[in-house]
Amino acid sequence: MTSRVTLLAAAGFAAALAGAAAPEKTGTADRVFLGGRVFTGDPARPFVEALAVRGATVLAVGTSAEIRELSGKGTDVVDLRGRFVAPGFIDGHLHLLGGSLSLEELRLDDAETFSALTQRVRDWAAAHPDAHWVTGEGWSYAAFPGGLPSRLQLDPLVSNRPAFLVSYDGHTGWANSMALRLASVTREAQDPPGGTIVRDEKGEPTGVLKENAMDLVGRLVPKLLPHEKERALRKGIAQVAAWGLTSVHQAGIGEEDLELLSRTLDAVPRLRVYVALDMEREPTADVLARQDELRRRFASDRLRVGAVKGYVDGVVEAKTAAMFEPYVGGGTGLPSWTQEELDRAVAAYDKAGWQVMLHAIGDRGIEMALTAFERAARANGTSGRRHRVEHVEVPRTADLPRFKAAGVIASTQAMFPYPNRNHLDVYVPTLGPERARRALAFKAIDDAGAVQSFGSDWPVFTAEVVRGIACAVTRTTVEGTPAGGWEPSQKLTVEAALRHFTHDAAFAEHAESQKGTLAPGKLADFVVLSQDVLAIPPERIKDTKVLLTVLGGQDTWRAKDF
Ligand SMILES: [Zn+2]
Repeated sequence: MTSRVTLLAAAGFAAALAGAAAPEKTGTADRVFLGGRVFTGDPARPFVEALAVRGATVLAVGTSAEIRELSGKGTDVVDLRGRFVAPGFIDGHLHLLGGSLSLEELRLDDAETFSALTQRVRDWAAAHPDAHWVTGEGWSYAAFPGGLPSRLQLDPLVSNRPAFLVSYDGHTGWANSMALRLASVTREAQDPPGGTIVRDEKGEPTGVLKENAMDLVGRLVPKLLPHEKERALRKGIAQVAAWGLTSVHQAGIGEEDLELLSRTLDAVPRLRVYVALDMEREPTADVLARQDELRRRFASDRLRVGAVKGYVDGVVEAKTAAMFEPYVGGGTGLPSWTQEELDRAVAAYDKAGWQVMLHAIGDRGIEMALTAFERAARANGTSGRRHRVEHVEVPRTADLPRFKAAGVIASTQAMFPYPNRNHLDVYVPTLGPERARRALAFKAIDDAGAVQSFGSDWPVFTAEVVRGIACAVTRTTVEGTPAGGWEPSQKLTVEAALRHFTHDAAFAEHAESQKGTLAPGKLADFVVLSQDVLAIPPERIKDTKVLLTVLGGQDTWRAKDF
């Protein structure tokens, strides 16, 4: 032990001397990480064994012998024990507060059968006897015979208090009889504009509330207090770090929640957040001035406002994503803007230097978003704004080259092709075979030369990155179904999936010069995994554990056994 310490001190001294001649290596590392298999993402030097950190940045990458030279007396030496290291994961699209709250609330995702779902409701109600309401999210239509639930199924599970459970896509609510009574949703109640109270053959409400009718019950659910939100957010930030994330992109937020996020990140500095504000439909001079103030105020590498996010259309399952051709069973969805309105708003933001993120899922919605971006650049003479289409689920094949040509980012979600029952029994049949083949076509997007940034849309899907990588690479569920994967021609290599969750997501926030790869001078954001995801069979990727997450040189998560 003594000899090792002496050796390190001597090496540090030698490095310090050598540093005088080679300024880029001046001084000693605060931490060195030796003996790993480090995927840097840097094409100049993709694989190394070790890296040195000083302050918040990478001092050097290289062989263990080279990096050991940079350690001195006070240097923290971490033995990577042959583990795989990657640049810190970046989630290009999530909802941090919604995701954080979902950790505490009743979640029905993955409860694919009626009995699994009812068990989960019963368990949660039993575990939370003091909750005034039973609220939750995530049920899928496929769990119910006929595709919709009923209050008569919920009443036996929750009879002593109101219950209100929202579908996984957020478009349908399921209330018990007590909640309907409190909301005065009776047979006499009228459907609100843009909403439907589903009724049985006798005209009695069934407990299902569609779209705007959800608010009849939803508005009675007690609102969270700021300290409750903050508590959830702290938990969410810790969870996200444990999944190996060092940066996330917040897809839309209002001012009040932004303030809360800022306070919480000051108290729990374990994550970098790139923020898209909610896009205003009429970006007047006043609106732009107010949003610009927020952009100037939140401009650190921990919390940075740089984009606005709006919606062009809805979702496939509810047939609200805007399509050129009707869905199976009818309807084409409806864009929430005319092209002219969208062009005007996008051009105003583009001119003011904003990156614009547009949720667009249907082929028509995506086409409208691309058109608005192209026209804004032309009208304003701007370039390099890196505007983004969020989700890009069902693009026309002919529109894919427009992403590269216009420098528009395809911001997709790695778990969206997850082939569970909802996907195979509802999503795919709603599209029909021709459109299903070009849906969630990650490989085709890459092949068209677009920059593709991966995210999760947490809480719609988990933000656990190894699950996302596994899905993009295998196109199967964790159980391995369907055999060979859904639309297997769209499988990505592990390296491509990693790049979309690191370098490309960094590019999508104009930050690839600071992060997303590991090279001298870049932020020391990286993750240590339990297995080499580039070498193992794809079906084992899902079992990968995150052992260590490092943000700006500091540990934000460390597994007990590492
Ligand atoms: Zn989203």
